[in-house]
Amino acid sequence: MQVSKLDEIYSLSSTLTCKEMTSKITDYAIQSQIENMEPSKYIDRFTGKAKNELVIYRSKCPLCDSKQFDFLFTKQGFDHILCNNCDLIFTLQILDHEKIKFLEVGKEGDNYGDYKSDAVVSDRDKKKYEIVFEELKKYSTINKIFDFGSNAGVFLDWAKLKNYSIIGHEYHDALRNGCISKGHTVLNDNLETIHLDEVDLITCWDYIDHVLNPKTMIENIGKYLKKDGLFFFAINNRDSLSARIMHERSPIFIGPHHTMHYGINQLNLLMKDYELLYSESYVSELNWISNWLNFKNAEFGDSSLMKDLLSPKKICELGMGFKVNAIYRKK
Ligand SMILES: [Zn+2]
Repeated sequence: MQVSKLDEIYSLSSTLTCKEMTSKITDYAIQSQIENMEPSKYIDRFTGKAKNELVIYRSKCPLCDSKQFDFLFTKQGFDHILCNNCDLIFTLQILDHEKIKFLEVGKEGDNYGDYKSDAVVSDRDKKKYEIVFEELKKYSTINKIFDFGSNAGVFLDWAKLKNYSIIGHEYHDALRNGCISKGHTVLNDNLETIHLDEVDLITCWDYIDHVLNPKTMIENIGKYLKKDGLFFFAINNRDSLSARIMHERSPIFIGPHHTMHYGINQLNLLMKDYELLYSESYVSELNWISNWLNFKNAEFGDSSLMKDLLSPKKICELGMGFKVNAIYRKK
């Protein structure tokens, strides 16, 4: 995996303690609290598990269909499972969309939108887009883009400013309407059946772990990619050092909302009909890890970064940063 410029330029986690980092972001603490409390509404007080009447149980790995898997832990009422065949971590329960419209109206979506719109966060995101597009343009001419999981539209804003022709997609009503009010075209049709005009690039920023039937979705939207067109993903990395140390205490595991946890191997499996052109890892999360190793609150503690023990560069070189970017080309 490539060493990414992004760890130095984009990530705060290799240079600031969590306490310093969180104090820079408006209302970070209250947003974090809402995010952590929110999934409790799905929990049955008697069993401590997600309410049976709201969920569907998976009977096999949603990526490779194997029925051989092991229990890892329960978080926010959702059982987390490791597939013995493909190493995907997934939740056994998923919310039943027929019964609860969590994709459209969940408060957690509004909340994440606030976070992504914060000036400190969105300025860094814009630098990130510049660097990623330097790489993408090496492989194809890019004009038309389809972006799904558009969230508050920070990427749409940037792409429009750079004169790309971009269409977004966002199921969450408040987030989508926010994007539309900024002048963007943002769809909410089912991604497994949606029709699109041909595009040069499909982007997915930090969203693939929310997608419940990713194989069907990729098969469908991939049809609208031009020959030699590109798929770009930024993912939360299941192989990250922080997740591997902290397990269920890692923020990567959000009971009802992140139901499939990918590393590059699992993403390659999802994208088996595509060629992997480039991958890079960034965001060492050394501030969280240092707090954890010093018995401090992992998210808010002020432990100094243990750089003598763990080099942020090495963490990312080994593909163990919290984030992975990957570029695929249609075969
Ligand atoms: Zn599997």
